[in-house]
Amino acid sequence: MTAVQQDRKLPAGEPDGFHRMWRELAPVGRDSGSGGYRRYAWTGADADCRAWFREQAEARGLAYEVDRNGNQWAWLGDPAAGDAVVTGSHLDSVPDGGAFDGPLGVVSALAAVDELRARGHAPQRPLGIVNFGDEEGARFGLACVGSRLTAGVLDPARARELRDGDGVTLALAMERAGYDPDALGPDPERLARIGAFVELHIEQGRALAGTPHPVGVASAIWPHGRWRFDFHGEANHAGTTRLADRRDPMLTYAASVLTAREQAELAGALATFAKISVEPNGVNAIPSLVRGWLDSRAADEDTLAALVSAVEKAAVARGHADGVEVAVTRESFTPVVDFDHGLRDRLARGLGGAPVLPTGAGHDAGILSGAVPTAMLYVRNPTGVSHSPAESAEEDDCVAGVHALADALEGLTCGS
Ligand SMILES: [Zn+2]
Repeated sequence: MTAVQQDRKLPAGEPDGFHRMWRELAPVGRDSGSGGYRRYAWTGADADCRAWFREQAEARGLAYEVDRNGNQWAWLGDPAAGDAVVTGSHLDSVPDGGAFDGPLGVVSALAAVDELRARGHAPQRPLGIVNFGDEEGARFGLACVGSRLTAGVLDPARARELRDGDGVTLALAMERAGYDPDALGPDPERLARIGAFVELHIEQGRALAGTPHPVGVASAIWPHGRWRFDFHGEANHAGTTRLADRRDPMLTYAASVLTAREQAELAGALATFAKISVEPNGVNAIPSLVRGWLDSRAADEDTLAALVSAVEKAAVARGHADGVEVAVTRESFTPVVDFDHGLRDRLARGLGGAPVLPTGAGHDAGILSGAVPTAMLYVRNPTGVSHSPAESAEEDDCVAGVHALADALEGLTCGS
């Protein structure tokens, strides 16, 4: 952000509210070395973000509550009345994340409520703002823990046993942060009270860049998954083993990386070997084992399955030539999320025919979409960079996002 105004105190609801909130949140959990954010679930930085959210809710006279899974809620109107309209996102970050992924949705939600009040709009349905806990999964390795638990798609016993890099369980981390891990579990009554959920998010790509549209609407989240490729060869001396005598799994792995890229280009999809482990991992030893994790995403499940299968077949064939055995294990898979068409079209119309875009990134909105009519708004990202300190959005585009969200919420809560 490029807000340069002096740090004068303004009550919530002032036109300057978005910028004031942005300035307040900006230093929380930011690493002075990298400039990136390290707001990991149930850490001190996370607690500071959560305290800030609570202050914002209370400053606006919204009814504040924390649900059994640690997600924070702020309500205008009584959610028990049902058919509520909810907006929000998350405040946690990936390691050295940008300022916008998550916080833009929460700050814009609060600013949109301010704007509705300034317009004199009285919502005819309960209106809620949510900060979902542990969306990025940076600490415990599983994304969207708060929304998955609430939606009943994550076993609470499994969640409690998730461990961070220091071996601390999620249960212990929650307890240390003052929350009760025994309370974790599905929350169908809460979800049943929600009639619509709209998440505003920074775009994580460049589809809006170069268009006249600062705000777009999500169509779908691509199906995605993670596959572990084990390339088994034979450890040997790098200085004495003739090339012809080697069974070098690094060769098979390297060929597979190139194949994944080729197949992704052919399919108009994405495939990335982003993580590997090597045994014995010595500088002068031919490896005995290379493990590579393939992250792949495509517009539909058939395309994704065909892509991964093509990479596997090519790896096996190359393995024959290299004397390397290849085993592939699917470690995770998330099916396609098709956002609610009625809600999506309504938002796109309200924005004067805004672009409707698919994404390869997962979100709490995707998790909720199985139980609640759900939509997403994207705010233009000029570089497309995300999950990096370089993530950015123009100030005017952020303000346009607030207006778009306020319009959407007004339309949904006007009683018609
Ligand atoms: Zn996000």
